[in-house]
Amino acid sequence: LKERVQINKQRDEMTELGVMFNELMDNLEKSFHQQQQFVEDASHELKTPLSIIHGHLSLINRWGKDNPKVLERSIDLSLNETNRLIQLVSELLTLSRAEESTTNMNSLEEVKMREIMEDIVENFQTINNDFKISSTIDIDTDFTIKILKSHLEQIMIILLDNATKYSTDDKVIQINVRHTDRRLTIEVKDYGAGIPKEELPFVHNRFYRVDKARSRKHGGNGLGLSIAKRLLDIYQGTLDIDSVYGKWTKVQITFPINFDEAPTTKGG
Ligand code: ADP
Repeated sequence: LKERVQINKQRDEMTELGVMFNELMDNLEKSFHQQQQFVEDASHELKTPLSIIHGHLSLINRWGKDNPKVLERSIDLSLNETNRLIQLVSELLTLSRAEESTTNMNSLEEVKMREIMEDIVENFQTINNDFKISSTIDIDTDFTIKILKSHLEQIMIILLDNATKYSTDDKVIQINVRHTDRRLTIEVKDYGAGIPKEELPFVHNRFYRVDKARSRKHGGNGLGLSIAKRLLDIYQGTLDIDSVYGKWTKVQITFPINFDEAPTTKGG
């Protein structure tokens, strides 16, 4: 009987090991496909500006020497595309660094949220003085949270940049910061282009743009929200978007206040 129990135990262990192995292989395969997809998408995004620059160089080569107008226009448009490439490459680097980022919550410093948020709002208002940025920061001056200041700034810049990029005539942005005893919530609301309901689940996917032409005009590569989401994942944060197309968009992010849970490791 003892031997049979032992054999059954070993069989169970083998089955369990088999299940774990299959799961591991599935995960590896999934992550490999995701990587492959990412490289394909990134190459596609890089190809567009490169093709445009190539087109303009060919124009300059054929007509530009005798026609200063063609020369000037092609150089201007090529410069635009070079700027786009620089921004795209820099965003790809940021995303890749955020993907690699592992943060030990215990080693993080407590930062004063009110002070940081006030600084972010003030700086942003200075750069965008044609916007009316109103903020309600409903937290005490000594309220702190464990986060890398640069990560919070990066996330807020992405949300505020989007709020300005997709604004229409109504140049008003509202920022609301509050907390419960468990979570800190930051909301950024604009009264701009809005996002159609059916597109909302996809906007934080890499390279996803609701209106490619509009995004392109504003230099949008469809990477901002995926960077913000990845940075929030590090802190077990959340990102939710609500919008009424043509009227307003509200992005809400939340962070846990106490990290009793295990620190987040790579991949969220
Ligand atoms: P992008 O760099 O193109 O802005 P994001 O990842 O930040 O990329 O956003 C993805 C898409 O979601 C944008 O291209 C835009 O279509 C839409 N979007 C994001 N924020 C807003 C907003 N505040 N108002 C309207 N549309 C938005």
